[in-house]
Amino acid sequence: MGWNMKLPGFIDSHMHYLGLGYTSSNVDLTKANSIVEIIALLKEELPKPVLIGRGWNQENLLEKRMLNKEDLNAVSRDIPIIMTRVCGHVLTANDKMLELAGITKDTIQVDGGTFNYDTGVFSENALSLILSSLSKPTTMDLENYLQLADKILLKNGITSVASDDFCIFNIPFEDVIAVINKMVAEDKIHVNITEQVNLPLNELKRFIEKGFVNKEFKKFKMGPLKILADGSLGGKTAYLNKPYEDDPSNRGIYTYSDDELFELIHLANSNGMDVVIHAIGDASVDQVLKCLIKSIEQTKRFKHHHAIIHAQLATHKQIKLMKKYHIGAIIQPIFLNSDIKIIESRIGERMNESYLFKTMVDEGLNVGFSTDSPIEPINPFYNIYSAITRKSIKEPDLKAFLVEEGCDLETALKCYTINNLPYIKRKEMPLGDYIVIDKNIYDINSKSLLNISILETYIDNELVYKKAL
Ligand SMILES: [Zn+2]
Repeated sequence: MGWNMKLPGFIDSHMHYLGLGYTSSNVDLTKANSIVEIIALLKEELPKPVLIGRGWNQENLLEKRMLNKEDLNAVSRDIPIIMTRVCGHVLTANDKMLELAGITKDTIQVDGGTFNYDTGVFSENALSLILSSLSKPTTMDLENYLQLADKILLKNGITSVASDDFCIFNIPFEDVIAVINKMVAEDKIHVNITEQVNLPLNELKRFIEKGFVNKEFKKFKMGPLKILADGSLGGKTAYLNKPYEDDPSNRGIYTYSDDELFELIHLANSNGMDVVIHAIGDASVDQVLKCLIKSIEQTKRFKHHHAIIHAQLATHKQIKLMKKYHIGAIIQPIFLNSDIKIIESRIGERMNESYLFKTMVDEGLNVGFSTDSPIEPINPFYNIYSAITRKSIKEPDLKAFLVEEGCDLETALKCYTINNLPYIKRKEMPLGDYIVIDKNIYDINSKSLLNISILETYIDNELVYKKAL
């Protein structure tokens, strides 16, 4: 028998519960090393009525280019195919899918997004042109996704999450609430879920009018409004103050004008709802801070738990401003896993003022850890490893990134538990939620973090996962 150790259950403060279940049931391209390999992998999946997958990343592909529609046409011209990039902000569709979605050379571009008919590549708001024409999942599908996600979370020692689930499928938010509540009532899912309410303005109004603000069900609560303000660094859609180093005509994408963003924030904030906003680029963080601070000052609602999600390119100055207005940071050290090798090419010298995670802690922001799973692996020990070592797990030979911005184990554990409490709308750590691991976490080197096994997971003192021996 080795060392067995009890730890509090982990809290992941930004992930996609339904998305994790859905993705886990789709084709996984994260390990593909070339487009040739992707095509072969997809052909193996045939025959199928529709082929959906996720996880390609041109940086990892031998060809060093985006996946395009001809690649997917080579898999099949008869069935619709959609392959989403690892970031979730870019996708490629084949001709059959374009036809199904009614996209032609003459289709008009949408605000806050772009698509290219010739390459079949869609980004940001333009994703909906494709995704909205997929057939909707049945209740049975949703139940399967939820159960699959719950299993994955428990196996990884996650007992509570803040999760963004309302806009992954084109279905009313009430349906998502109903199916989650049903699964909880039937004891088929166990993890505590606080919803990061991701809704467009009109739907948010309906959500408020119907009395859903801060509503709590058993194990499932309505949390903050979730807003997406820009894209991703990998996809070159994060909104920057100066152009991308490797794309001098491009500064990325913002999703809303200042007025639109303020309207959304203010509607939530003045109805007593916190706001958490995805912002990666420095220009996006500027825009978010401007609108958020304006709303905080107008409502005088200073005891809030608003936060910026990601904030990788937040500068020292922006971090100070966040502190002044009590705006937290929900960050993902594990993003270094994929980002280390692109940071310099994307932003050049600006990289020296990026991923300032220790600075955020030292400046006194409420820093919470999360994985944005299924974007990156849900394993909390991988995330802690990245936070401490500032290294990529999948590319161990790459140099650690700004190693002085790494934190110690104690801080990492705090960011994964206590600091995340406000983001799941709890005041105290739930003592009945804990895990048993196979090593003494305080007495191992950082590399061994990657080999920790979770033996048991408990929620409300009930054993909900036990590792098969
Ligand atoms: Zn996310």
